[in-house]
Amino acid sequence: MTGTEHLARKGIRTPFDERPFLAIWELTQACDLVCAHCRACATPDRDPHELDTQEGKALLDSLAAMHVPLVVLTGGDPAKRPDMAELVAHGKSVGLTMAVTPSGTPRMTRERIAELGAAGVARLAVSVDGPDAASHDAFRGVPGSFAESVRILRTARELGIEVQINTSVGPHNHKALAAMAAFAAEMHAVLWSVFFVVPTGRAGASLLLGPRHVEALLEELADLAKGAPFDVKTTAAPHFRRVQLERHAKAVGVHTEIDEHGLVVGPRGINDGSGFVFVSHVGDIFPSGFLPLRAGNVREDDLGQVYREHPLFRSLRDEDALVGKCGACPFRRVCGGSRARAYAVEGDVLASDPLCAYVPKALREPVEASSVA
Ligand code: SF4
Ligand code: SF4
Repeated sequence: MTGTEHLARKGIRTPFDERPFLAIWELTQACDLVCAHCRACATPDRDPHELDTQEGKALLDSLAAMHVPLVVLTGGDPAKRPDMAELVAHGKSVGLTMAVTPSGTPRMTRERIAELGAAGVARLAVSVDGPDAASHDAFRGVPGSFAESVRILRTARELGIEVQINTSVGPHNHKALAAMAAFAAEMHAVLWSVFFVVPTGRAGASLLLGPRHVEALLEELADLAKGAPFDVKTTAAPHFRRVQLERHAKAVGVHTEIDEHGLVVGPRGINDGSGFVFVSHVGDIFPSGFLPLRAGNVREDDLGQVYREHPLFRSLRDEDALVGKCGACPFRRVCGGSRARAYAVEGDVLASDPLCAYVPKALREPVEASSVA
């Protein structure tokens, strides 16, 4: 029996139905930066109701029991918590792969980076939104943040810790993708994660680019990814997978893998609630940090059960429940659109992602229809 047949017998369609691939725990919402797009609406002070160290360790134990492959400690600024390295060490001790996303501030000293290294952190992910101080600092709201981010990246590399660069793309930097790719190579990043803004928290609609513009940027990203010494992934833009599959189809003349329902087959990426779970600083469980629909709390609920069984999570893993353009799209199984952005803009978690320019064949004028793509 193949792995897929085994899962089907259990009523599970994909491994993402059983457990998330990636769990993000927001250690705190405290942060010394004041970014224009902050999902957490971060402020300098910690919330007294945050999960404490013991509750955090229990959360990590539950993620280990679920065999979640990757856990990211985020914020706010995780370095606002004195137990950051202790939590990484605990996660590592129970078999988890732990990554941390510190903010670019002086708080992340060489000593604290070294502590994380000794605790067994697998990777530090640092946000850099422009290739120079002027562009980055203007967006992050604090002069000197670019220099701090570069210092953290260089120090981590000196200490033998892998680094990742996260970039939020918007009107402030859409012309700087090539320069950012060069920067990521210079920093010896293993992954460049490019985030397309979801209007939630402090992020307003003014930070959104239009769908055609996003399409051009995804094409540029696909070009930059070719031969880059790091991997490229997108956050909140799963249609990057559609762009890559369309490129492949153009190269070979046809979509080689179409299933019996006419859906394009390809690598299934994680998406809100599908391979992905977010736990807030006070323990609330969400499908992602950008989708503010609470499905439980780790202080009262079993995280694995919420992920597997809550109707919201189940519907997010059912691409046939999608409506509008995404519901008619042959790429919905490999893409599915950003559910967070659909909710933020359309008020419906199953609606189309408004940042995708693709029009499925079924919705095109007859004269335009020519292929599955
Ligand atoms: S660094 Fe992150 S947590 Fe801090 S203000 Fe910026 S977006 Fe918010
Ligand atoms: S229409 Fe929706 S499912 Fe299709 S590629 Fe665009 S975002 Fe993805």
